[in-house]
Amino acid sequence: MHDERLETRGEGNDQGNILQTLIDISRIITTSHDLEETLSHTVELIAGRMAVDVCSIYLYDENSQELELKATRGLSASAVGQVRLAVHEGVVGLVIQEGKPVNHSDISHHPRFKFIPSIDEEQLSSFCGVPLIEFRKTLGVLAIQNRESRLFTPEEENLLIAIASQISGLISKALLVDRLKREADETAREGREGETRRMEGVPIAPGVAKDQVIIFHRTRLPEPEYAPSGAVEDEKRALRRSIDLSEQEILAMIEDMTKRVGQEDASIFHSHLLFLEDRAFIRKINRLIEAGASAGWAVHHVVMDYLRTFQGLNDPYLKERGADLEDVGFRLLQHLGMASRTHVAIERGGVLVAEMLTPSDTAMLDPLKIKAIVTSVGGFVSHAAILARSLRIPAVSGLENIFEVLKEGETVLVDGETGVLFVNPPESISKEYDRYQETRQVYLTHLEDLREVPCCTKDHQPVKVFANVSLAQDLEDVDRYGAEGIGLYRTEMHYLMSESRPTVDQLMETYARAINVAGDRTIIFRTLDLGADNSPPYMNFPREDNPFMGHRAIRYQLSREILLKEQLTAILKVAHLGTVAVVIPMISQLDELHQVKRVYRDCRREIVAETGEEPPEIPLGMLFEVPSSVLMCDLFAGEVDFFAIGTNDLTQYTLAVDRNNPYVNHLYDPLDPAVLFLIRRLVEAARRVDKSLLVCGEMASDPEGCLVLVGMGLRELSMNAPLIPLVKDRLAQMTLPELENVARIALNSTTAANVRRNIRFLMQQHQN
Ligand code: PEP
Ligand code: MG
Repeated sequence: MHDERLETRGEGNDQGNILQTLIDISRIITTSHDLEETLSHTVELIAGRMAVDVCSIYLYDENSQELELKATRGLSASAVGQVRLAVHEGVVGLVIQEGKPVNHSDISHHPRFKFIPSIDEEQLSSFCGVPLIEFRKTLGVLAIQNRESRLFTPEEENLLIAIASQISGLISKALLVDRLKREADETAREGREGETRRMEGVPIAPGVAKDQVIIFHRTRLPEPEYAPSGAVEDEKRALRRSIDLSEQEILAMIEDMTKRVGQEDASIFHSHLLFLEDRAFIRKINRLIEAGASAGWAVHHVVMDYLRTFQGLNDPYLKERGADLEDVGFRLLQHLGMASRTHVAIERGGVLVAEMLTPSDTAMLDPLKIKAIVTSVGGFVSHAAILARSLRIPAVSGLENIFEVLKEGETVLVDGETGVLFVNPPESISKEYDRYQETRQVYLTHLEDLREVPCCTKDHQPVKVFANVSLAQDLEDVDRYGAEGIGLYRTEMHYLMSESRPTVDQLMETYARAINVAGDRTIIFRTLDLGADNSPPYMNFPREDNPFMGHRAIRYQLSREILLKEQLTAILKVAHLGTVAVVIPMISQLDELHQVKRVYRDCRREIVAETGEEPPEIPLGMLFEVPSSVLMCDLFAGEVDFFAIGTNDLTQYTLAVDRNNPYVNHLYDPLDPAVLFLIRRLVEAARRVDKSLLVCGEMASDPEGCLVLVGMGLRELSMNAPLIPLVKDRLAQMTLPELENVARIALNSTTAANVRRNIRFLMQQHQN
């Protein structure tokens, strides 16, 4: 079976003995069939690697407070499962009592020595035992012994401690699996009803909960009749009234949520107010009313139109904003008397199961009653998800055919951290989760504290974390999550949300607002990345068979140079307000960069001619997201002021996997070693010319991705701001040498799946 925990190609791996031992132990564990087999293979391996006469594992039973010999190489095999020691007995018990290693040159002269006739220990002199501990829970003792009477050296003792800390997690898992298996056998024997089923979705909000399923059918946005019931003016008045009432309701909701979850998270509903205050949005509705439609039909039509645009965007964060708009649309229709909301005000407690939830649905939930949320649709960055996290309701999304796989009244355990669900979980799983939850509570409190804490590795190497900004609302998150600047300002949204091409003045106004939020922190504007699946109707993009490979980003802008000129002019004119830089997307040829620089010089010249003033020089960077530019990066290095990597596109173009195509989604992973090689090439190139290198694709906030990136030498990461505390938490758990080891192992792994598995394995060891 191709399923090792730590599988590398084995090149350049200089961790030597310990790493190879760990690799082999993990291999044993994944290929063993049961706990006994796992432990006996493990002791065989350690005895061989450490060249000792005996290696044994004793497991500790909390209930009886006894240690049982579970596996040995060197002692009598018949003693396994027979020898039991109370913690106050023997040197092995002393290891547990003291919680630290015991190293002795002649065990028979140790004051705690206990003679046990059945284990053939008479010939043995030296002893070194170390505790096996996971999450502060004592699991047992790992002991080595030799016939020769000598103290084990500090190096040997340290190696044993390292092995013990690495295998504790694995043993704990093996124990859990063993318990689950026994439980399953018991269930089968007793023929109990309610078979356990395991499912996997996407983790949305952390936490664990177990309760009964409550099915919630949310009312979809209804489509009202086209024909109005009154005259145009009556319909317009009804619309105005509905907007006013909706605004009042949202304000009341903000007040209520401020009390419940605090001002910051309640301000999510400010984005709903922004829709209602958006003149273009309201104008579109009014125009349809003037053309003869009812106010309800017009609202529905415009909302659906926007929703289609949101759905068509390739940024998952922006896609999620669709739910906010749908929420607003629903509210408007409600006040026009065209819809009535099914209330999620559920009396009894349970796990809420729904197709999707809007932010308002989520805001109405009572966390004392709703223990967890499970949905089909709704990503990590949706506002509903953010609220679920604020309300401390664990949530999992991405479950297909949700009403078929989960039935009303079934007991379900929801793990919001891994996305795993257990229907009818056995007692052993529930218990294990209870234990886990206790530890998690400490972790959550710790995450909150991280907002103010600078981002660094465990050994205090600083890493800069920036925010990615697309919508105006995202600007609010920059301070909220402690970003050190705006690493990627996606300028497309302004164009996509306007009815016609924004003027230079309008661009200046928008950019000045963003610079203002950044204050004295850097803000990097990316020039237009339209095309592919993002194109406003007024630009009349050509129909292309292969748009991602076609007229996109800088290629399109250079073909309509005025677009680039307008953007650069606007940015140059407001650059004095802050610390501004510009990054160019999708450069694949050197010639494109030369053309951009020529346009930039023209813009400066024209500004001087127009105003008589020299605008500030703006650092110009390029986004490496096409393999050709990465392969030729040394050519570009001298031409740009800084490097940035767009891992989303770099992954899709390197692996030839459309980032939005569900059929090939399983092949899309920025941690694919092929992508990692390209990133390493950029790190080296940037280092050679001493220029900064920023990562701004989703990989920067990926739980495993951020570790590899920093391990590879990256020190600037830009991400959706709500993910910043999580990245801080991940990085703070490892030292730079450990992260470098993570990167080395990742670069030596064979597939993206193995990269992730290996990193999780290493991470797990560090948490023990
Ligand atoms: C990327 O490609 O990684 C990137 C940051 O840009 P976008 O996701 O907007 O294409
Ligand atoms: Mg891109």
